[in-house]
Amino acid sequence: MVAKVIDGKLVAASIRQECRERVEALRRKTGVTPGLAVILVGNNPASAIYVSNKVRACGEVGIQSFKKELPADIDTDSLVEQIDALSRDPAIHGILVQLPLPPHIDMRRVLSSIAAEKDVDGFHLYNVGGLVVGNTIFPPCTPYGVVRILEFEKIPVEGRNVVVVGASNIVGKPMALMLMQREATVSICHAKTVDLAQYTILADILVVAAGRPNLILPQMVKTGAVVIDVGINRLPNGKITGDVDFEGVKHKASYITPVPGGVGPMTVTMLLVNTITSAERAAGLRETGIPEPA
Ligand code: NAP
Repeated sequence: MVAKVIDGKLVAASIRQECRERVEALRRKTGVTPGLAVILVGNNPASAIYVSNKVRACGEVGIQSFKKELPADIDTDSLVEQIDALSRDPAIHGILVQLPLPPHIDMRRVLSSIAAEKDVDGFHLYNVGGLVVGNTIFPPCTPYGVVRILEFEKIPVEGRNVVVVGASNIVGKPMALMLMQREATVSICHAKTVDLAQYTILADILVVAAGRPNLILPQMVKTGAVVIDVGINRLPNGKITGDVDFEGVKHKASYITPVPGGVGPMTVTMLLVNTITSAERAAGLRETGIPEPA
């Protein structure tokens, strides 16, 4: 068996085309242009690259982006004030704070200060709680991207054994919740899991987000499994690789995502989707996603 290699760039391109059409329809019907504020604190070079990629992607689909560069020594209060102003600004439909923040900043307070209805990264506690009960306003971008890949490839989730390797707040845990919501039977593994292979071998769908190159070897994968590699690792030779032994596992799996070119292109794409959804809600074209108080 040789797996179908899922082309994340192709899936992302098709969703970005839908994004352009939604932005255009929104402008035509209501005169509103979606706006995303991207906040970059300090001068972390990797963060600066991620922010420019997001700004460029916005431009490609017609979202207006507002980049705010703030000094590394800004304090939590001042950062929260800036976010409050953006939360009140009707031209802004999404607010994203690029992580990581400098260590002296209270990250939880900062993320919770973003208005829940503009939290397009999905990290506000309201959105996190929404994931648990199944009515989140914005699904976090990376796991949302994985769900959209599965949908695009028409891979059924309901009733299947899913194993998620990695239990972080931004990938593993929301991934597990989103697939459970879609009625999969989900196991979550992490660094303290004893005998990882005894779990992974049972997976019909294996999602790996551990940040450990070559963690998943062919003997750990069930024949015919769908293998989604979220990991991004830079090897000492500069090469980018995932968490899965791609060359070995592709002879065992039915579908596999490459790194790069699999899940990666989907993450920024889902940020665009969430921002457009937010603008459509603000313009009254969709329900807000936030229940009215009783
Ligand atoms: P993270 O916060 O470091 O979390 C890693 C998770 O993997 C933790 O839950 C950890 O367990 C678990 N883990 C580590 N070693 C393990 C092992 N040997 N066996 C089983 N589980 C293990 O990382 P993250 O932010 O979730 O990101 C995970 C990977 O995805 C990274 O490579 C990151 O670069 C990549 N990523 C990609 C995208 C994308 O767009 N494609 C987006 C975000 C992240 P403990 O909880 O026990 O420590």
